[in-house]
Amino acid sequence: MRKYYVMAGVLIVAVIILGLIYAISGGAFECEIAQLMKQEPDGFAELAVYDWITAKLEAMEARDIDRYLALIDETDKEYYTEQRNWFLIYQDSETADFSIRVLKATQVDDTTIVATLCQRYLYGPEKEKRIVKYEARFVKTPDGWKDADLNFKGIETEHFIIKYPGSAEAKAMEVSTASEDAYASVVDGLGFEAQGKTTIKLYTDRKMLRETSDIRVAYLYNGWAEAGESIKMYAYRKGSPELLIAHELVHKITLEITDSQTAWLSEGLAAYFGNRPFAGGNPVQLGSSTAEDLSQPISWLDDTTLTLLTDAENRVLYNDMAAMVVEFIVEAYGLDKLQAILLELSKYPRYNRGYDYAMEPELQQRLYQAFETVLGIDKDTLNKQWLAWIGSQ
Ligand SMILES: [Zn+2]
Repeated sequence: MRKYYVMAGVLIVAVIILGLIYAISGGAFECEIAQLMKQEPDGFAELAVYDWITAKLEAMEARDIDRYLALIDETDKEYYTEQRNWFLIYQDSETADFSIRVLKATQVDDTTIVATLCQRYLYGPEKEKRIVKYEARFVKTPDGWKDADLNFKGIETEHFIIKYPGSAEAKAMEVSTASEDAYASVVDGLGFEAQGKTTIKLYTDRKMLRETSDIRVAYLYNGWAEAGESIKMYAYRKGSPELLIAHELVHKITLEITDSQTAWLSEGLAAYFGNRPFAGGNPVQLGSSTAEDLSQPISWLDDTTLTLLTDAENRVLYNDMAAMVVEFIVEAYGLDKLQAILLELSKYPRYNRGYDYAMEPELQQRLYQAFETVLGIDKDTLNKQWLAWIGSQ
C-alpha cells in the first residue's frame, strides 16, 4: 500500500513540475514538444496551413523575397511593408534550423483560418534558441491562403487604429485613451502631424514583438516603429502607456518626413518630444544620468551601435545623451531650426526600408551637412557648443 502512495506522490510532483515549466516558459515547452512530434495535419485547415508553411520555409531557404511576399496578404499594405522589411533583415542575418509547427488550426468562416503556431530557430553565431508561440490569421484569396498577420481585433480612435489580441481587450481600451493624449502632446511639441491614422499593434509577448520587427537586436524591447509600418508595443510594459506611444509616434511622424535619420537623432527626437513631457523632465533633471556622465563628444553616439548594446547602463547613457543633444539644439537654436534640419534631410531620396546600421556613414554625412546648411556650423563647432552646454546643466 505504502508503495502506491509513494508512486502517486512522485506522479503529483512530476505533474506540478511540468506545469511550472510550462507556465514559466510561456508556451516554449509546448513548442519544444511539438518539435519532437511527427507533423500530421488533421483536417482541412491544418493541411492548408502546413502547405503555406512549406512554401514559406522554401522561400526563406532560397532567400527569395518575391516568393516570400507572395504568401502575404497584399491588401494590408502596412503588414506587407512590415514583412518586406522583415525579410530584408532576415536575409542578411545568421539563422539556422528554422521551423514552424501547427498546434491548432481552425477555419472560422469561408475565407478565414486562425492557427496557433510555434516558430523556432537558432540565431547568430552563438546559436541562441528563439522560440515563440502565436496565433496567426490566414485569408483565402484567388491565389490561395495568405498570411494576414497575427489574429488581431481592432478599435479606432480619432487618430489611431488599435490592433490587439482578444486576450488584451482591457489593455486596448486603456491604450486607445492614452494614444489620443500622446498624440496631442507630440503634435504640440514637435509641430508636425501624422499622415492619416496610425496603427498601433499590441503584443502580449516581447519575444514575439522582436520576432516580427528587428530580430537582430540583442535585447527585448517594448516598442518599435519604422517608416510605413505600424507602431508595435508591448501591452504590459510597466509605467505610462502615453510615454511609450508618444515615443513611438515621434519616430513614426518624423520618419514620414525623412528616413534619413541617424540612430541617435532618431532616438533623441523620440525621447525629447515623446518621453520628456510625460516623464516630467529631461534625463539630468530626473537623475537618470548626470551632466558629467553625458559630457561625451557627439562622435561617441556616431560610433556606438545602440541595438548591439547588451549592457543596460550604456543603453541608458546613449538614450539620455541623444535626448540631451536634441534638447541642446532646440534650446540653443530654436524649434524652427530643428524642424528645418528635418526638412533639409527630407530632400534626400528615401531609403524606403527599415533602418540598417550599414546606412550610418551616409546618414551621418547627411546630418552634418544639414547642420552646416541650417545652423551654419561644422561638426567640431557643434561638438564644442554641445560640451559647453551640457557642462552648464
Ligand atoms: Zn525609439
